[in-house]
Amino acid sequence: MGDIEGAPVVAASAEPGPQLRWRGRVDREVVRQPHGEAVDRDPVDEVDRAVALALAARRRGEDLHLVPGRPQPRGEVVDLHLDATQPRQVAVGEHGDLHADSLSWARMVLMPHTLVAFHAHPDDEALLTAGTMARAAAEGHRVVLVLATDGAAGLAAATFGDPTTLGARRLGEAQRSADVLGVARVACLGYADSGLGPALDPDPAGQVRFVRTSVAEAAERLAAILREENASVLLTYDANGGYGHRDHVMIHHVGARAAMLARTPRVLQATIPRDTICRAIALAQKVYRFPPEFDPTSFERAFVPRSAVTHRISVRRHIPAKRAAMRAHASQASADGGADRTLAAFLRIPRPVYDLVFGREWYVDPARPPGSPVSRDIFEGL
Ligand SMILES: [Zn+2]
Repeated sequence: MGDIEGAPVVAASAEPGPQLRWRGRVDREVVRQPHGEAVDRDPVDEVDRAVALALAARRRGEDLHLVPGRPQPRGEVVDLHLDATQPRQVAVGEHGDLHADSLSWARMVLMPHTLVAFHAHPDDEALLTAGTMARAAAEGHRVVLVLATDGAAGLAAATFGDPTTLGARRLGEAQRSADVLGVARVACLGYADSGLGPALDPDPAGQVRFVRTSVAEAAERLAAILREENASVLLTYDANGGYGHRDHVMIHHVGARAAMLARTPRVLQATIPRDTICRAIALAQKVYRFPPEFDPTSFERAFVPRSAVTHRISVRRHIPAKRAAMRAHASQASADGGADRTLAAFLRIPRPVYDLVFGREWYVDPARPPGSPVSRDIFEGL
């Protein structure tokens, strides 16, 4: 449990009722809450030391949330809401005395948000938003990954057999990627991958290709998740769909519509400033040969110009998690898949260049007035 910061709490789950008692100082013990199982209104008495826990759902099945209702006079009961199913818990940081300084209490109270990252295919999350997701999870927010498709068209079917099997395999990889990023929930809307080819293949049995569905229908399904999660921020793609994959363009439209339906306060379109990636690729090409299917010039028309970026998020501290997420996808397909080969290629980029390219993530907030200062925090102002 090395990733749990802060101190106390002891669970008394064997007692009748969810009683949680603090007598004096109880340090270095944590409540372990089974995944999704809510424990509500745990009274704690005689708090003479701060409730101090930074919480994070770092691993599936180990959601840890401590939610004090409000500051209490010494000796009175504090209600603790331990509820992994509620997206907006109050987390309390470390501080000395609950009563000495109510302002410091107020400052220490964080309001974790729920971040929903909406992606077209398994592996897109690893490339574009993994650092932001890992950072949000590490900071105690709830992170949800929603995939539109299972990515079954991502690899040559001849090599990997039945696309149905491939879809299941790629969803498994997405789950492993999500686990290392600290994602609390992975949902797949179940559309079929529309593929990259010039012609759109017929729908596979029992599925509709993502671009064949209507924006309204897909948006309603995403909106249901946004409402259920009470999402504060939705991550989608820029209007170009990054490099232009038809499913990625669809994510842009579906995401915008879903956020409107669910009244999600902020939509951030994942992107890369064109000049940054072109410069980094030019640099990498001096020391590294990209595989033949990787077309560096494709980035000259993709994504957005630097001036459109509204959020630049430092994820340097989360590069290990981001690389692990990429590896979760790159592992199975070093041979044939275009997307996965690109991932594997990225992982072989020399580390300083990798950090330059992948140590930051960029977003466009369409609601921000042009010329606003670039924000460093996706939750700023929420
Ligand atoms: Zn994709």
